[in-house]
Amino acid sequence: MTGEVKTQFACPECHGPATLARPPKNGMRAQFACPHCKGPTSIKTSRLVSATLREVNYQCRDVECSYSFMVQAEAVRSLSPSGKPDPAVNIPLSPHATALQRARAERIAASA
Ligand SMILES: [Zn+2]
Repeated sequence: MTGEVKTQFACPECHGPATLARPPKNGMRAQFACPHCKGPTSIKTSRLVSATLREVNYQCRDVECSYSFMVQAEAVRSLSPSGKPDPAVNIPLSPHATALQRARAERIAASA
């Protein structure tokens, strides 16, 4: 087992398949519990709204609850830059990645 968990997200930059950097501890797909009864849910449908946003419809598996709800999953921060960036996609760097980039630039400036 590789520890990778496939998602329904494509890389917003290169449009290749994306995996979760840290899979859930239970080894299952990333999933939402029912907000009302906290029971397990199933994904019914999903659609890509944009290169960075996906809407996923969930339904509670508890027959007495049967609550249905929609989740939006959006790429909001870049943790490391893409090697194949799409110029149409602009996802801000996380503070950690920004600090790493600044330290790298300072090291290069100091060695020049
Ligand atoms: Zn429920």
